[in-house]
Amino acid sequence: MTSACLIKVRGVVQGVGFRPFVYRIATELHLSGWVLNGQEGVAIHLEGDEAHVQSFLDRLKSEAPPASRIVEMDVAPAATAGFQNFSIKESERNQRPTVRISPDLPVCNECLREMADASNRRHQYPYINCTNCGPRYTVILALPYDRPNTTMKDWPFDEYCDREYHDPANRRFHAQPVACPQCGPHYYLRVGEETISGDDVVIRRTVELLKAGKIVAVKGLGGYHLACDARNVDAVAAMRARKFRKEKPFAVMVETVAAAEALVELSADAKELLTSIARPIVLAPAKRELLGVAPDNRELGIMLPYTPLQHLLFAAGAPPVLVMTSANRSSEPIAYEDDDAFDRLSGIADAFLVGERPIARRVDDSVARAGAWGPAILRRSRAYAPGAVTSFPLPSRTEKSILALGADLKNTVTLVVEGQAFVSQHIGDLDHYDAFRAFEETIRDLMTMYQIRWEDVVVVHDAHPEYRSTAHGLRLPCVEKRAVQHHRAHIASVLAEHGAWARLALGISFDGTGYGDDGSIWGGEFFVGSLQNGFERVAHLRPAALPGGDAAAQYPVQAAAGFLAQVEGLPSLSDAPFSFPSRYAAALQLVHKKVRTFPTTSVGRLFDTAAALLGFTRHITFEGQAAMWVEHIARGAGEVDCYPFPFLNGELDFRPLLQAVAMDRIKGRNIADIARAFQRGIAHGVAEATKALARSHNVDVTVFSGGVFQNELLLEDLKAELGNTGLQLWTNQAVPANDGGISLGQAALAFFDDMKKKYRDAA
Ligand code: ZN
Ligand code: FE
Repeated sequence: MTSACLIKVRGVVQGVGFRPFVYRIATELHLSGWVLNGQEGVAIHLEGDEAHVQSFLDRLKSEAPPASRIVEMDVAPAATAGFQNFSIKESERNQRPTVRISPDLPVCNECLREMADASNRRHQYPYINCTNCGPRYTVILALPYDRPNTTMKDWPFDEYCDREYHDPANRRFHAQPVACPQCGPHYYLRVGEETISGDDVVIRRTVELLKAGKIVAVKGLGGYHLACDARNVDAVAAMRARKFRKEKPFAVMVETVAAAEALVELSADAKELLTSIARPIVLAPAKRELLGVAPDNRELGIMLPYTPLQHLLFAAGAPPVLVMTSANRSSEPIAYEDDDAFDRLSGIADAFLVGERPIARRVDDSVARAGAWGPAILRRSRAYAPGAVTSFPLPSRTEKSILALGADLKNTVTLVVEGQAFVSQHIGDLDHYDAFRAFEETIRDLMTMYQIRWEDVVVVHDAHPEYRSTAHGLRLPCVEKRAVQHHRAHIASVLAEHGAWARLALGISFDGTGYGDDGSIWGGEFFVGSLQNGFERVAHLRPAALPGGDAAAQYPVQAAAGFLAQVEGLPSLSDAPFSFPSRYAAALQLVHKKVRTFPTTSVGRLFDTAAALLGFTRHITFEGQAAMWVEHIARGAGEVDCYPFPFLNGELDFRPLLQAVAMDRIKGRNIADIARAFQRGIAHGVAEATKALARSHNVDVTVFSGGVFQNELLLEDLKAELGNTGLQLWTNQAVPANDGGISLGQAALAFFDDMKKKYRDAA
């Protein structure tokens, strides 16, 4: 019996080989009709034998291309139109695009095979790709995703590529970035004044330079990397010196999983992350130390090659472990435009391996970890962005889109269009001028891409009046603006990830800093509530003083002054074993005189205080360094009991905890054991508070977010403490627990704020 139907597929279905796949199974099943890329996804009209239509629908789901993700599928009966065959129709472009842009994909195995085959037209071609692989987000200039809207627009197809591109049976059918050595872009090498061309020549020369200990800037998918031999101590030291990056760990790239396993311990989950389609940098426990690569760190960040060029470098004999770090100086954003790269990196790189294909936008490597509570993303960027993280409950659609601006550190922005939350790539610390420009660009980019007008958007920003993102939000030309408190946004980000819109939860939000309701510096907060009804603060860390405010984050001893001022019976900390520098005494003066001193409940600063007592008395060179150091030291300890960190009257009291640290230090106990007892004390205190609050508020879901919960040891201890209490333990997985997740949380709270208002108006 002949039947006809119209199928609408939403999700990641464009630019991932979906239409050729549809074409293939439709023709195999002798079905007629058409498929097209619409603004809302892929639409398919099918006619033919009813049983065949049914098996088409089954195969559509079970055999979909690896990089695609079907989120919604809608099948409706249609009138038969008497099509004779099956065809691929031109893209539709009328309404607003709500289609999801595919993130970038790693080069696929078929392309790798062709690249290694001397008889193939694309033998050793660094820009090989097909519908199953290659760049997407980093080449898209506008929607819909068609060649003229990509950075490949200036390379017209030759006859060969044109034939493949138009052949529905070919793997390169409508592969927008497709190219070959005859018609496509190439790589060239700049060494000093010299420019060398020829893909194979420049790859060989690059390998020679790397082997000789040189630093090469290599253009990748979303920006430049700085590469050097990770086992060459001098090269690594030179990289640190020239990059002004004293201690922050570098990531490395190795060719195979086996090579990765020689360097780090890979759990099954970690291996899955490492080889996942996103190819993120995976943090895993190091088996051996690569001198200077990740100092004072138990973990090493490791990734596999994901561009054809990276594979070619290894195949040509590059050093087996390469430092591959974002090409920038210190905390600047990654360089992605050639001239800017030459300009900014000239003092760092000995040579530039430059690809001619322009990068549409800056996208760093993503960072992930297979942690104690499951896989978690710590930096959400390449190959995740700009995927939708979650869909807010519809059909109660808010007519307006929501643009959430995030926080000033580790900034990301989130745009909610018709319920879908698109979280941008990692942008960075907005204090930096270039990062701030990237922030503005990203907002413009998202607004343009989804064709959102300013009058149709609600802007959400942090409650901090002095954040750059707040000031920018207030300048934007839209009518509706809303502030969301930082730590509530952390909790909301987890619930939004889980789609737990109405769920009552206890939220534990710990981080370094955030603007509190009372204007003080929060960072050790407990909330009870839900996304729909908002969150009430129910407990917190005992307040301490913070001399110098947020600036104290740079100096653990400065933060320590405010906390230790409340701890009785301490000797002079200028003397051994503490030997605090004079900055401590000066800060203590401020605390006693109550000058330039602000109240704080920051757990991040509590960790800094412990670090200072344990010997970290210099200033930090990257955010969170002192806390990471405490965790690292604690890993070296044996079995120890926890220090007391009592929870009483809605406050976690740090005084006994810090007193125990200081006294044991004076007694000469080894610092690993002290650090461990401190960490366990934190976990035990938090667990006791969590149990008590969950009981009194009758809550069974507990949500942990904020930068402090990137501390793996803390998560392990909390799991041991709370694992069998019947409480559900949730933390971030799809967006970072650090401030990279703030924009999603802001968007979620604003979304439900709007819903509430609508219900109120309706009532
Ligand atoms: Zn491919
Ligand atoms: Fe935060």
